[in-house]
Amino acid sequence: MEYVACNLCGSADASPYCRVGEFQIVRCNACGLLYTNPRRPASETAGIYSESYFVSKKPSELGYDDYRSHAKGLKEVFSEHLSTIEQFVRPPASIVEVGCAYGYFLQVAASRGWTVEGVEISPFASQIARENANARVHTGTLSSVRLVPLKFDSAAIWDMLEHSFDPAEDLTETNRILKPGGYLFMTIPDAGSFSSRVMGKHWYGFKKVAEHNYFFSKRTLGQLLSKTGFRLLKTRGGVWPCSMRFLATKLAPYSPAASHAAEGIVRALRIEDAVVKFRFIDMFVIARKEATR
Ligand SMILES: [Zn+2]
Repeated sequence: MEYVACNLCGSADASPYCRVGEFQIVRCNACGLLYTNPRRPASETAGIYSESYFVSKKPSELGYDDYRSHAKGLKEVFSEHLSTIEQFVRPPASIVEVGCAYGYFLQVAASRGWTVEGVEISPFASQIARENANARVHTGTLSSVRLVPLKFDSAAIWDMLEHSFDPAEDLTETNRILKPGGYLFMTIPDAGSFSSRVMGKHWYGFKKVAEHNYFFSKRTLGQLLSKTGFRLLKTRGGVWPCSMRFLATKLAPYSPAASHAAEGIVRALRIEDAVVKFRFIDMFVIARKEATR
Protein backbone atom coordinates (compact mmCIF):
# COMPACT_ATOMS: atom_id res chain seq x y z
CA MET A 1 0.00 0.00 0.00
CA GLU A 2 1.18 3.58 -0.66
CA TYR A 3 0.26 6.90 1.01
CA VAL A 4 -0.46 9.87 -1.28
CA ALA A 5 -1.17 13.61 -0.87
CA CYS A 6 -4.30 15.29 -2.23
CA ASN A 7 -4.33 15.19 -6.04
CA LEU A 8 -6.28 18.45 -6.26
CA CYS A 9 -4.47 20.79 -3.81
CA GLY A 10 -1.33 18.90 -2.73
CA SER A 11 -2.13 18.96 0.98
CA ALA A 12 -1.29 15.85 3.00
CA ASP A 13 -3.68 16.92 5.77
CA ALA A 14 -6.73 14.64 5.55
CA SER A 15 -9.27 13.12 7.95
CA PRO A 16 -10.75 9.61 7.85
CA TYR A 17 -14.11 9.68 6.00
CA CYS A 18 -15.17 6.05 5.90
CA ARG A 19 -13.70 2.59 5.89
CA VAL A 20 -14.67 0.01 3.24
CA GLY A 21 -13.20 -3.44 3.83
CA GLU A 22 -9.42 -3.13 3.97
CA PHE A 23 -9.47 0.39 2.47
CA GLN A 24 -9.66 3.82 4.10
CA ILE A 25 -11.32 6.73 2.29
CA VAL A 26 -10.16 10.15 3.50
CA ARG A 27 -11.35 13.74 3.01
CA CYS A 28 -8.79 16.47 2.33
CA ASN A 29 -8.96 19.05 5.11
CA ALA A 30 -7.89 21.80 2.72
CA CYS A 31 -10.15 21.29 -0.34
CA GLY A 32 -12.62 18.52 0.54
CA LEU A 33 -11.56 15.98 -2.11
CA LEU A 34 -12.40 12.38 -1.15
CA TYR A 35 -9.78 9.77 -2.00
CA THR A 36 -8.53 6.32 -1.05
CA ASN A 37 -5.48 6.53 1.23
CA PRO A 38 -3.43 4.43 1.58
CA ARG A 39 -4.05 2.62 -1.68
CA ARG A 40 -2.65 -0.05 -3.94
CA PRO A 41 0.54 1.26 -5.58
CA ALA A 42 0.18 2.49 -9.16
CA SER A 43 2.78 -0.09 -10.17
CA GLU A 44 0.15 -2.79 -9.54
CA THR A 45 -2.31 -1.22 -12.01
CA ALA A 46 -1.31 -3.44 -14.89
CA GLY A 47 -2.06 -6.39 -12.64
CA ILE A 48 -5.57 -5.11 -11.85
CA TYR A 49 -6.56 -4.54 -15.49
CA SER A 50 -5.54 -7.92 -16.85
CA GLU A 51 -7.92 -10.36 -18.55
CA SER A 52 -9.36 -11.35 -15.15
CA TYR A 53 -10.72 -7.79 -14.66
CA PHE A 54 -12.84 -8.04 -17.81
CA VAL A 55 -13.81 -11.69 -17.42
CA SER A 56 -13.89 -12.17 -13.66
CA LYS A 57 -14.84 -15.17 -11.57
CA LYS A 58 -15.36 -12.82 -8.60
CA PRO A 59 -16.98 -9.67 -10.05
CA SER A 60 -18.43 -8.81 -6.64
CA GLU A 61 -14.88 -7.82 -5.60
CA LEU A 62 -13.26 -6.45 -8.75
CA GLY A 63 -14.11 -5.89 -12.38
CA TYR A 64 -16.77 -7.43 -14.60
CA ASP A 65 -18.45 -10.82 -14.91
CA ASP A 66 -17.91 -10.67 -18.68
CA TYR A 67 -17.43 -7.20 -20.16
CA ARG A 68 -18.55 -8.47 -23.57
CA SER A 69 -22.03 -9.19 -22.17
CA HIS A 70 -22.45 -5.44 -21.53
CA ALA A 71 -21.88 -4.50 -25.18
CA LYS A 72 -25.55 -3.88 -26.02
CA GLY A 73 -26.24 -1.57 -23.06
CA LEU A 74 -22.95 0.27 -23.44
CA LYS A 75 -23.49 0.90 -27.17
CA GLU A 76 -26.99 2.27 -26.48
CA VAL A 77 -25.60 4.66 -23.89
CA PHE A 78 -22.68 5.66 -26.14
CA SER A 79 -25.18 6.55 -28.90
CA GLU A 80 -26.98 8.79 -26.40
CA HIS A 81 -23.64 10.36 -25.39
CA LEU A 82 -22.82 11.04 -29.05
CA SER A 83 -26.18 12.73 -29.62
CA THR A 84 -25.22 15.13 -26.82
CA ILE A 85 -21.62 15.53 -28.05
CA GLU A 86 -22.79 16.33 -31.59
CA GLN A 87 -24.58 19.43 -30.26
CA PHE A 88 -21.05 20.81 -29.68
CA VAL A 89 -18.76 19.09 -32.21
CA ARG A 90 -19.76 17.21 -35.32
CA PRO A 91 -18.18 14.40 -37.32
CA PRO A 92 -15.87 13.98 -39.20
CA ALA A 93 -14.11 15.80 -36.31
CA SER A 94 -11.64 13.76 -34.28
CA ILE A 95 -12.25 12.29 -30.84
CA VAL A 96 -9.81 10.42 -28.61
CA GLU A 97 -11.16 8.14 -25.91
CA VAL A 98 -9.01 7.68 -22.81
CA GLY A 99 -9.76 4.31 -21.22
CA CYS A 100 -11.51 2.74 -24.21
CA ALA A 101 -11.79 -0.82 -22.79
CA TYR A 102 -13.15 -3.08 -25.58
CA GLY A 103 -13.60 -0.13 -28.00
CA TYR A 104 -17.41 -0.03 -28.07
CA PHE A 105 -17.54 3.78 -27.97
CA LEU A 106 -14.93 4.05 -30.74
CA GLN A 107 -16.97 1.60 -32.79
CA VAL A 108 -20.24 3.56 -32.40
CA ALA A 109 -18.50 6.91 -33.01
CA ALA A 110 -16.74 5.65 -36.15
CA SER A 111 -20.07 4.39 -37.52
CA ARG A 112 -21.41 7.95 -37.16
CA GLY A 113 -18.48 9.36 -39.16
CA TRP A 114 -16.11 10.41 -36.36
CA THR A 115 -12.32 10.12 -36.69
CA VAL A 116 -11.48 7.97 -33.67
CA GLU A 117 -8.44 6.97 -31.66
CA GLY A 118 -8.24 5.19 -28.28
CA VAL A 119 -5.93 4.84 -25.31
CA GLU A 120 -6.23 1.83 -23.01
CA ILE A 121 -4.02 0.72 -20.13
CA SER A 122 -4.87 -2.97 -20.47
CA PRO A 123 -2.95 -4.82 -23.22
CA PHE A 124 -5.71 -7.47 -23.17
CA ALA A 125 -8.57 -4.97 -23.68
CA SER A 126 -6.71 -2.75 -26.14
CA GLN A 127 -6.18 -5.68 -28.51
CA ILE A 128 -9.92 -6.42 -28.45
CA ALA A 129 -10.64 -2.69 -29.00
CA ARG A 130 -8.43 -2.67 -32.11
CA GLU A 131 -10.39 -5.59 -33.55
CA ASN A 132 -13.84 -4.28 -32.55
CA ALA A 133 -13.38 -0.70 -33.73
CA ASN A 134 -10.79 -1.23 -36.47
CA ALA A 135 -9.14 1.87 -34.97
CA ARG A 136 -5.78 3.01 -33.69
CA VAL A 137 -5.59 2.09 -30.00
CA HIS A 138 -2.51 2.98 -27.94
CA THR A 139 -1.67 0.68 -25.02
CA GLY A 140 -0.60 2.42 -21.80
CA THR A 141 -1.53 5.37 -19.61
CA LEU A 142 -2.26 8.63 -21.42
CA SER A 143 1.08 10.09 -20.24
CA SER A 144 3.09 7.05 -21.25
CA VAL A 145 1.82 6.90 -24.86
CA ARG A 146 2.85 10.54 -25.59
CA LEU A 147 0.30 11.51 -28.26
CA VAL A 148 0.98 14.46 -30.59
CA PRO A 149 0.10 17.85 -29.01
CA LEU A 150 -2.89 19.87 -30.27
CA LYS A 151 -4.10 16.93 -32.35
CA PHE A 152 -7.73 16.29 -31.38
CA ASP A 153 -10.99 18.24 -31.68
CA SER A 154 -12.45 16.47 -28.65
CA ALA A 155 -11.77 13.89 -25.96
CA ALA A 156 -13.97 11.41 -24.08
CA ILE A 157 -13.30 9.87 -20.67
CA TRP A 158 -16.13 7.49 -19.71
CA ASP A 159 -16.09 6.24 -16.10
CA MET A 160 -12.30 6.20 -15.99
CA LEU A 161 -11.02 9.21 -14.02
CA GLU A 162 -12.13 7.70 -10.69
CA HIS A 163 -9.82 4.72 -11.43
CA SER A 164 -6.86 6.94 -12.30
CA PHE A 165 -3.84 7.09 -10.00
CA ASP A 166 -3.23 10.72 -11.04
CA PRO A 167 -6.35 12.49 -12.37
CA ALA A 168 -4.54 15.88 -12.44
CA GLU A 169 -1.88 14.45 -14.74
CA ASP A 170 -4.48 12.72 -16.95
CA LEU A 171 -6.46 15.94 -17.42
CA THR A 172 -3.29 18.01 -18.01
CA GLU A 173 -2.25 15.51 -20.66
CA THR A 174 -5.75 15.50 -22.21
CA ASN A 175 -5.51 19.29 -22.38
CA ARG A 176 -2.12 19.08 -24.13
CA ILE A 177 -3.39 16.85 -26.96
CA LEU A 178 -6.56 18.90 -27.59
CA LYS A 179 -6.75 21.79 -30.03
CA PRO A 180 -7.41 25.21 -28.42
CA GLY A 181 -11.14 25.36 -27.68
CA GLY A 182 -11.36 21.55 -27.91
CA TYR A 183 -14.09 19.79 -25.95
CA LEU A 184 -13.81 17.25 -23.14
CA PHE A 185 -16.78 14.97 -22.35
CA MET A 186 -16.77 12.77 -19.27
CA THR A 187 -18.94 10.56 -17.13
CA ILE A 188 -17.87 9.97 -13.54
CA PRO A 189 -19.62 8.87 -10.34
CA ASP A 190 -20.87 12.00 -8.56
CA ALA A 191 -19.92 11.91 -4.88
CA GLY A 192 -22.26 14.88 -4.34
CA SER A 193 -25.20 13.17 -6.08
CA PHE A 194 -28.65 12.39 -4.74
CA SER A 195 -27.74 8.68 -4.41
CA SER A 196 -24.55 9.43 -2.49
CA ARG A 197 -26.34 11.83 -0.15
CA VAL A 198 -29.04 9.23 0.55
CA MET A 199 -26.66 6.25 0.84
CA GLY A 200 -23.88 8.13 2.71
CA LYS A 201 -21.01 5.82 3.51
CA HIS A 202 -22.88 2.91 1.86
CA TRP A 203 -22.86 4.68 -1.52
CA TYR A 204 -22.11 2.41 -4.48
CA GLY A 205 -19.11 4.54 -5.54
CA PHE A 206 -17.36 3.76 -2.25
CA LYS A 207 -18.09 0.03 -2.55
CA LYS A 208 -15.80 -0.07 -5.58
CA VAL A 209 -12.87 1.18 -3.51
CA ALA A 210 -10.65 -1.69 -4.67
CA GLU A 211 -10.54 0.01 -8.10
CA HIS A 212 -11.72 3.59 -7.41
CA ASN A 213 -9.04 5.94 -6.08
CA TYR A 214 -10.95 9.26 -6.26
CA PHE A 215 -14.52 10.35 -5.52
CA PHE A 216 -15.27 13.70 -7.15
CA SER A 217 -18.23 16.00 -6.64
CA LYS A 218 -19.20 18.68 -9.13
CA ARG A 219 -17.27 21.19 -7.00
CA THR A 220 -13.99 19.26 -6.66
CA LEU A 221 -14.07 18.14 -10.31
CA GLY A 222 -14.73 21.72 -11.43
CA GLN A 223 -11.68 22.86 -9.45
CA LEU A 224 -9.48 20.15 -10.98
CA LEU A 225 -10.70 21.03 -14.48
CA SER A 226 -9.86 24.69 -14.01
CA LYS A 227 -6.44 23.82 -12.55
CA THR A 228 -5.68 21.71 -15.65
CA GLY A 229 -6.69 24.32 -18.23
CA PHE A 230 -10.39 23.59 -18.78
CA ARG A 231 -13.55 25.55 -18.26
CA LEU A 232 -16.47 23.50 -16.93
CA LEU A 233 -19.44 24.32 -19.18
CA LYS A 234 -22.05 22.12 -17.55
CA THR A 235 -22.85 18.89 -15.75
CA ARG A 236 -26.04 16.91 -15.75
CA GLY A 237 -27.21 13.52 -14.53
CA GLY A 238 -25.57 10.69 -16.41
CA VAL A 239 -26.67 7.15 -17.16
CA TRP A 240 -24.88 4.04 -15.99
CA PRO A 241 -25.97 0.85 -17.78
CA CYS A 242 -25.67 -2.68 -16.46
CA SER A 243 -27.20 -6.09 -17.00
CA MET A 244 -29.52 -7.70 -14.45
CA ARG A 245 -26.97 -10.51 -13.95
CA PHE A 246 -24.22 -7.99 -13.15
CA LEU A 247 -26.51 -6.06 -10.84
CA ALA A 248 -27.23 -9.23 -8.83
CA THR A 249 -23.51 -9.99 -8.38
CA LYS A 250 -22.88 -6.40 -7.25
CA LEU A 251 -25.24 -6.85 -4.29
CA ALA A 252 -22.65 -9.11 -2.66
CA PRO A 253 -20.74 -6.37 -0.78
CA TYR A 254 -24.06 -5.45 0.89
CA SER A 255 -25.36 -8.96 1.47
CA PRO A 256 -23.93 -12.20 0.02
CA ALA A 257 -27.25 -13.96 0.73
CA ALA A 258 -29.29 -11.29 -1.09
CA SER A 259 -26.86 -11.40 -4.00
CA HIS A 260 -27.14 -15.18 -4.25
CA ALA A 261 -30.95 -15.02 -4.09
CA ALA A 262 -31.07 -12.24 -6.71
CA GLU A 263 -28.85 -14.23 -9.08
CA GLY A 264 -31.27 -17.15 -8.77
CA ILE A 265 -34.32 -14.97 -9.45
CA VAL A 266 -32.69 -13.25 -12.44
CA ARG A 267 -31.75 -16.65 -13.88
CA ALA A 268 -35.22 -18.13 -13.29
CA LEU A 269 -36.88 -15.13 -14.97
CA ARG A 270 -34.39 -15.36 -17.86
CA ILE A 271 -33.65 -11.65 -17.65
CA GLU A 272 -29.87 -12.01 -17.21
CA ASP A 273 -29.12 -9.91 -20.27
CA ALA A 274 -31.79 -7.25 -19.75
CA VAL A 275 -30.18 -3.83 -19.48
CA VAL A 276 -30.99 -1.48 -16.61
CA LYS A 277 -29.96 2.16 -16.90
CA PHE A 278 -29.24 3.86 -13.59
CA ARG A 279 -29.56 7.57 -13.17
CA PHE A 280 -28.39 9.54 -10.11
CA ILE A 281 -24.96 7.79 -9.88
CA ASP A 282 -22.88 9.33 -12.65
CA MET A 283 -22.62 12.91 -13.81
CA PHE A 284 -22.13 13.79 -17.48
CA VAL A 285 -19.57 16.58 -17.75
CA ILE A 286 -18.95 18.99 -20.63
CA ALA A 287 -15.76 21.09 -20.46
CA ARG A 288 -13.72 23.11 -22.91
CA LYS A 289 -10.01 23.74 -23.24
CA GLU A 290 -9.22 27.36 -22.50
CA ALA A 291 -8.14 28.95 -25.76
CA THR A 292 -5.07 30.53 -24.17
CA ARG A 293 -3.21 27.23 -23.63
ZN1 LIG B 1 -6.99 18.88 -1.21
